[in-house]
Amino acid sequence: MGMFTVSDFNSFDDLLMDQLRNLYDAEHRLTDALPKMAAAAVTRGLKEAFLSHLEQTKNHVRRLESAFAALGKNPERGTCQAMKGLISDGSHVIEAKGDSQVRDAALIAAAQCVEHYEMAAYGSARAFAKQLNLADVAALLQQTLDEERAADQKLTGLAETEINYPAAKRSVARV
Ligand code: FE
Ligand code: ZN
Repeated sequence: MGMFTVSDFNSFDDLLMDQLRNLYDAEHRLTDALPKMAAAAVTRGLKEAFLSHLEQTKNHVRRLESAFAALGKNPERGTCQAMKGLISDGSHVIEAKGDSQVRDAALIAAAQCVEHYEMAAYGSARAFAKQLNLADVAALLQQTLDEERAADQKLTGLAETEINYPAAKRSVARV
């Protein structure tokens, strides 16, 4: 749930549930946003990275559903204000005009903010699950966390090898 929603935090169970609902909403939003990011990307490797992360993201939704099931709860979306904002930053890049490689660099920057947000949120959720001795739930969250980290590293790799250098070459030279 968003930061401005009042919740009762009486136990780590409440905390974990809040975090799972927040992530469930975030992953759904990303499932809608990633095809748009892929369509906007010009560099082939970046387009492919977004599309392969889209497939992973659909799986993240399913993994969260397994976590809810393990807790005997129905999956429910809380509003993730952070992801709404991060995706709106990404839309700003999608709508922008200009040099395609510079725009790709901007898409990567926006996407990496998303991955880092997810890594932070999954890390906390996993910690709460561990605290509650819910090893199965913690393992599900860890799997997704590992994929978010790998996705982030892939984006760094693309930026460093294919995108930033040619994009920067067309920028004003600094002496
Ligand atoms: Fe994800
Ligand atoms: Zn992700």
